Amino acid sequence: MPSENKRRALGQHFLRDGAIARAIVDLVAPTPADLVVEIGPGDGALTGILAGRAGRVVALEVDRALGAALRARFPSVEVLDADARTWDYAGLVAPSGGRVLIVGNLPYSVGKLILAALVGAGRAINEMALMLQREVAERVAAPPGGKTYGSLSVFTQLHCDVRLALRVPAGAFRPPPKVESAVLHLRVLREPRVALADERRFETVVRAAFAQRRKVLANALGAGLGLPLEVVRRAAGLAGVDPGRRAETLSLQEFADLTARLS
Ligand code: SAM
Repeated sequence: MPSENKRRALGQHFLRDGAIARAIVDLVAPTPADLVVEIGPGDGALTGILAGRAGRVVALEVDRALGAALRARFPSVEVLDADARTWDYAGLVAPSGGRVLIVGNLPYSVGKLILAALVGAGRAINEMALMLQREVAERVAAPPGGKTYGSLSVFTQLHCDVRLALRVPAGAFRPPPKVESAVLHLRVLREPRVALADERRFETVVRAAFAQRRKVLANALGAGLGLPLEVVRRAAGLAGVDPGRRAETLSLQEFADLTARLS
């Protein structure tokens, strides 16, 4: 692939602001007891800082040329030619007395997929500092009640405390991206935020509710789940949720209660 095309396809915008790089690493504050997995190390803006602070650093880079250069520059870092969308995060084991931390300035085009893989890894991870396109980061961190709150917010917040920690201007990168960026600090909860008998069903209900987010809940769920309106209204009533509300106003607990009544 020609290098310019490759650069675009892989979202290769490299951080050139050392203060921002340190601030990202400081969010998870690695110590010699910790294992850090870095996603998309690129030309090493975060890798060097991580190598100086964490006990062990594993870096996942899909661009083999960048991976080879990183191996030469940071011999203590285990650089893997790996795709961060499909890597087995669930198999990570924390070092004795330490934590598993994930740090990465994620490629924009696949940022949501990588985030989903990380959240899906469950309790194998302790904390994460992830840079994403700002609009995506805001959706992940959004509380109920606004237009940015959606299934991405619900699924991430089910398993993590999420805080939008830093906003990063395009000028901090070479070449500068067309969009703004933001860094999320996520702490993985030891138990899901709300108790669920069937997480798959919860996901189906949440996706259906937001698939037609401008409709009231009864209509969106009826259409999305293929259920008669009366069934949805009765279930919502039993869950204590007004079926005339819109999905964006429901808390995680309300989605859980609704799922239980729709199952
Ligand atoms: N961490 C560096 C920095 O902050 O300067 C580079 C960040 S750059 C936005 C994203 C990096 O992720 C690039 O190095 C790119 O090659 C890599 N990348 C893209 N897709 C990937 C994937 N699926 N798995 C692993 N790395 C990927």
